[in-house]
Amino acid sequence: MRLTVLGSNGTYPTPGHPTSGYLLQHEETSIWLDTGSGTFAALQSLIDFIDLDALIISHVHADHCIDLLGFYHAVKYGGRPRSGIPTYVPPGLAERLKGFLGDPHHPLGETLDFRVKADGGRASIGGVEVGFALTDHPVPTLAVRARADNGRVLAYSADTGPQGEWSRIAAEADLFLCEATYQGRADDKPWSHHLTAGEAGQIARAVGSRTLMLTHIWPVLDPDLSVQEAEHTFGRPVELAVPGMVVKV
Ligand SMILES: [Zn+2]
Repeated sequence: MRLTVLGSNGTYPTPGHPTSGYLLQHEETSIWLDTGSGTFAALQSLIDFIDLDALIISHVHADHCIDLLGFYHAVKYGGRPRSGIPTYVPPGLAERLKGFLGDPHHPLGETLDFRVKADGGRASIGGVEVGFALTDHPVPTLAVRARADNGRVLAYSADTGPQGEWSRIAAEADLFLCEATYQGRADDKPWSHHLTAGEAGQIARAVGSRTLMLTHIWPVLDPDLSVQEAEHTFGRPVELAVPGMVVKV
């Protein structure tokens, strides 16, 4: 598989740094994983969006889903309409977006085929098998474990606090893309439903993730310090997700 980072900012975009979004590709299959602010424009510099095989949205927080509306408008009104695009979402997300569009019966679902996934849900997208697990976050949030038919595994934490089925999500993952919103002591976190960089490293080490990449770092923090803190607990070098980066999984 190949993962391209479209955006990795936590919470809000800054110039050149969209929020969460990734393009996951395996052979002919392309999956857009999280559609945070600014990621649709970034995606279009890489592929023709009309060719996407599926989208996966982890949760309804705007920094993970809001560009789904821009994508919808581009598909619907961009001159090349397509219907039934597989869009894997947690419970409640489709309803929230329809509400934003001002109509609980909005035909958004004709273009985006919403396939609601709960804890333990699975999906098969081209040569990629995807498993979903609910995370420690105040709205239904899906962590993702994507396994290619060559056996390689990408795990994505989405947004989460430390509680969760970490072994199911990230055990022995070839790449564990993990949120690390905060730095410093876990006890001092402003909000318990995110991780510190140290916690990300601790979790990755506990479940035997082969490599760890930090993402969703609070924009005011120095990401190099996040990497140092995660390396301290992981015990090995740690990568940092930056927009435009391409990683072979
Ligand atoms: Zn969130």
